[in-house]
Amino acid sequence: MVTQLVVITGPSGVGKGTLKQRLLEELQLPESVSATTRSPREGETNGVEYHFLSREEFEKRRASDQFLESAEYAGNLYGTLRDEVENRADGARAVVLEIETRGAEQVRDRVSDAILIFISPPSPEELRRRLVGRGTDSPEQIERRLGEAERELSLQDEFDLVVINDDLESAVSELVQAVRGKLR
Ligand code: 5GP
Repeated sequence: MVTQLVVITGPSGVGKGTLKQRLLEELQLPESVSATTRSPREGETNGVEYHFLSREEFEKRRASDQFLESAEYAGNLYGTLRDEVENRADGARAVVLEIETRGAEQVRDRVSDAILIFISPPSPEELRRRLVGRGTDSPEQIERRLGEAERELSLQDEFDLVVINDDLESAVSELVQAVRGKLR
């Protein structure tokens, strides 16, 4: 792959989205818009937050090797389209992916110079509090996501850097500094 990849991973509710947004602004990097089979939440637009695909369409694209990585997460499929990364790159130093850990492991195994950063919560209780507090998921989805989180947290040492998202500004500066240092 010509463009370097910056992968932000970690459990749902940990604040990956906020940290990614700050990273994009600080370093003026583009992000890849993922594909998913989950239904759009209120306010989400096709092509902006995600490319929303039917499971059939997703599977078809997966079978023709259009995904750089993909994974089933809490009952839905998510993946990074190779074309999306190439198109967003457009001369940029790197493209940022915000993905769950199974996908991040695939990128690690396939792309040798990817920068892999795991965002961790200050505690498991705080993760639950944030997932409930953001109000975007049903109680059933929250439980599924907390189940996934337990598995994801056990993998954090496999990544290049772990950033604990306790104080947001400290986490942002740690993240920005680390990525700056690793861009080629
Ligand atoms: P959500 O449904 O809350 O938007 O996302 C659920 C989880 O899927 C989050 O951890 C998010 O980072 C992850 N995710 C989003 N896009 C992708 C992707 O393209 N690939 C993978 N593997 N995970 C993704």
